[in-house]
Amino acid sequence: MGRKIAIINQKGGSGKTTTAVNLGACLSLLGKTVLLIDLDPQANATIHLGLRPHEINSSLYEVMMEEKPLGDVVLPTEVNNLFIAPANINLSGAEIDLTGVVGREMVLKDAVDRLEESVDHPIRFDFIIIDCPPSLGLLTVNALTSAQEIIVPVQTEFFALEGIGKLFNTVEVVKKRLNHNLHITGIVPTMFDSRTNLSREVLDKITGHFGDKVYKTCIRKNVKLGEATSHGRPVILYDPHSTGAEDYSTLAKEVDVSE
Ligand code: ADP
Ligand code: MG
Repeated sequence: MGRKIAIINQKGGSGKTTTAVNLGACLSLLGKTVLLIDLDPQANATIHLGLRPHEINSSLYEVMMEEKPLGDVVLPTEVNNLFIAPANINLSGAEIDLTGVVGREMVLKDAVDRLEESVDHPIRFDFIIIDCPPSLGLLTVNALTSAQEIIVPVQTEFFALEGIGKLFNTVEVVKKRLNHNLHITGIVPTMFDSRTNLSREVLDKITGHFGDKVYKTCIRKNVKLGEATSHGRPVILYDPHSTGAEDYSTLAKEVDVSE
């Protein structure tokens, strides 16, 4: 079966959703079949792919809390071979509703495993990418038990590494207790501004800290990435010649060969 990657960082605004959507779209353009799972109740990835969360009847909430098969909520997108399992605001209740559930950390994993086992499901995914909420709560833990790999987007700004220790501790605990196969595939520096010394200094710091775990591709600051979101399209379709499209295409090639 394909690779399962959780995009995590408990910091909001680190570039998780932008990376999940655009990496997913660029992998699809490389010929891969990709499922993006939107695990953030704010449904930013869902919106980024042109869907309206309030018009979505079944989301990850129904999958995790009502045992709806994951395959039943998967929707196609404008990009060939890119599919989404959407979120809506209901999912904000999951964090609390899950607390009383036995095996609450493994609910999403069960759903993902059953998606793979279901013989009559017509789609075989090369990549399952999970966009996580900005916390290390139960939803993120569910992503960490479902995935084998983690990609951490880190914004190249002053407080970039603050809280990263807590993130790594959480990953270690999940790895030890719940998912021995989990590993960090890569760190993606995001919102890099080559004109500022600060961006360069932070990038050096990130590289010093994580060594060869840091992808060679650094995502530059590019307004087109934000514009693409509000147009409900991946940047590679919204503006194929932008640096955002270029960076995420390069990253997709790098991710495709790293594991
Ligand atoms: P997260 O999912 O971690 O909260 P987002 O991906 O939503 O972060 O990014 C936060 C904000 O920064 C969004 O408005 C997004 O459009 C913008 N953004 C993300 N990456 C870039 C970039 N490389 N250049 C410019 N803006 C970016
Ligand atoms: Mg997000």
